[in-house]
Amino acid sequence: MGETKYIFVTGGVASSLGKGIISSSIGKLLQARGYNVTIQKFDPYINIDPGTLNPYEHGECYVTVDGHEADLDLGHYERFLGIQTTKANNITTGRIYKSVIDKERRGDYLGKTIQVIPHITDEIKRNVKLLGNKYKFDFVITEIGGTVGDIESLPYLESIRQLKWELGKNALCVHLTYVPYLAAAGELKTKPTQHSVKELQSVGIQPDILVLRAEHSLSDGLRKKVALFCNVDEKAVVQSIDAPTIYEVPLLMQEQDLDKTILQKMGLPVGEEPDLGAWRTFLERRHAAETKAPVHIALVGKYDLQDAYKSIREALSQAGTYNDRKVEVHFVNSEKLTDENVADALKGMSGVMIGPGFGQRGIEGKFVAIKYTRTHDIPTFGICLGMQCIAIEFARNVLGYADANSREMDEKTPHNVIDIMEEQKAITNMGGTMRLGAYECVLQKGSKAYEAYGKEHIQERHRHRYEFNNDYKAQYEAAGMKCTGINPESDLVEIVEIPTLKWFIGTQFHPEYSSTVLNPHPLFVSFVKAAIENE
Ligand code: GLN
Repeated sequence: MGETKYIFVTGGVASSLGKGIISSSIGKLLQARGYNVTIQKFDPYINIDPGTLNPYEHGECYVTVDGHEADLDLGHYERFLGIQTTKANNITTGRIYKSVIDKERRGDYLGKTIQVIPHITDEIKRNVKLLGNKYKFDFVITEIGGTVGDIESLPYLESIRQLKWELGKNALCVHLTYVPYLAAAGELKTKPTQHSVKELQSVGIQPDILVLRAEHSLSDGLRKKVALFCNVDEKAVVQSIDAPTIYEVPLLMQEQDLDKTILQKMGLPVGEEPDLGAWRTFLERRHAAETKAPVHIALVGKYDLQDAYKSIREALSQAGTYNDRKVEVHFVNSEKLTDENVADALKGMSGVMIGPGFGQRGIEGKFVAIKYTRTHDIPTFGICLGMQCIAIEFARNVLGYADANSREMDEKTPHNVIDIMEEQKAITNMGGTMRLGAYECVLQKGSKAYEAYGKEHIQERHRHRYEFNNDYKAQYEAAGMKCTGINPESDLVEIVEIPTLKWFIGTQFHPEYSSTVLNPHPLFVSFVKAAIENE
C-alpha cells in the first residue's frame, strides 16, 4: 500500500469507555479489507511496564510471546485480530522517560538541556512509528490510555499533534466520548462531548472521527449537532451503543461505515465491503448457544474483580461458543474456602478452574477446592499457580507429604515439590526476574493434552518464577499424576494430568493468552466439553 497510515484513538469525558474495543474493531474492519494492521497501547503511567501492578488496580497482566508483561488491552487486540503483539505494542511513560534518561546519561544528547518538548515527545513519536517502520504495516493504530485533560496525557497529545501535522493524510484521530442519558430530562446530553473535543482542540488536535458511547440510540438531529459543534463531518459521528458482547462492536461500526470513513479520509480506495463471514458465523453460534441453559464453571481465585482474570474469562467464553453453550463463570473466593463449605461453594459446578496468582494469600483454599474436585472427579483446569497447587495438593494428600509446599509459600519446608527455578535462584529483586513469554513444550502421545492439541509440539506463554521439582517426578507418576508436557530444553514439567479422572489438567503456562475469537484454545475447548459431559 505504500506509506504506513497512523490512526490515533483517544478518549474523553470518562475512562473505561472501551477505547480498546473500538481500536480492536477498527483494526478488525481494516484487516478484513486485506490490510496488514497492528495496534499498540501507550499508557501515561510511570511504571516501566504493568508487570508489577496490582491486579485489583489494573486488572490482569497480559503476556506477549516475546515475554512482555503488558496492558490487558493487548489481549483484546490479539483476540480480535488474531495477531501476535510484542513489547513494542505497549509503551508507558515510564519506558519513554527511562529511554530518554538512559540516552542523556550516555551523552547521546551532547549536553543539550533535556525537556518534555522536544525530547520526550520525540521519543514518543519514535515509538509510535517503530512498528510501522520495522514491519511495514499498512495501518498502525495507537490507543492512548487515560482521558484527555489529564496532565499525564499532555506529552502524548502534543506528539499526536505534531505527527498529524507532519503526516497529513497519513494520520487520523478517532476520539471516543460519552453521551450520558439524563433520565429526569429524558434526554441524551452532548455537552460533555463538546467540552472534551474543545479540550483536544485546545492542544491543537482536531479529531477527524467521533465515536460516541451511549446507552440509547442517537437521533440524526443529535449527530448533526455534535458534528456542527465539533467541526466533524456528520458521517464521521458514529455511535457505540452498549452491545450484548464486545464481539458485536466491529459489525456495529461497519454498519455505520466507520471503516469507509477512515479510508476516505486517508485517501484510500473504498472498494467492496468485506463480509466478515467467519466473524458473523462465530456470533451466530454464540447467539444460538445463549438460548440454551449455561454450563456452570467455577473460577477459584483471590482477585475478586472481573478484569483480574480477563483472558481466562474470554477463553472460557469462546470455548463455550465452540461447544455451542454459554459458559457462566462463578467466581469463588479461595480465601473463604474450607473443607466444611467447599461442597456448598462448588455445588452445581460442572467444571472448576483454579486460577493463577502470586503469594501465600488464598492458597489453602485452592488446595481445598482441588482436593474436592479430585476426589469427586469434577473436571479441573489449573493454570500456573493453579497447576502448582494441583501438584502440592497431590503431594500432601496422595504422596503423603503433609508438609509439601512451594518455596514461594514456605522457604523451609523439607518437601518443596514446587521450587524456585534454577536460573532465578541468584536473583532476589522483584521486577523482571520471571520466566516470561513463549517456550516450547513437547506433549506425551496418548495424553488428554495431546488429544486436545492434536499435535506433539506446542509453544505457550509463561509468567512464573517457580517450577515443578523434578526430584519428585517419579513418585508423582507412580502414584497416578502424569507429567504429559515437558520443555525439551530444560526438562521443566509444563503439564500435569491425572488420566484416570474425567479431565484433570494443570499447565505451568498460560494458555488463555493465545485463545482468540476465531481460534479458540484447544485446552479450553476440551475442558468446557468435559464440563458439559459432566453435567
Ligand atoms: N506465583 C507462581 C510463580 O511465580 C505462579 C505465578 C502465576 O500463577 N502466574 O511461579
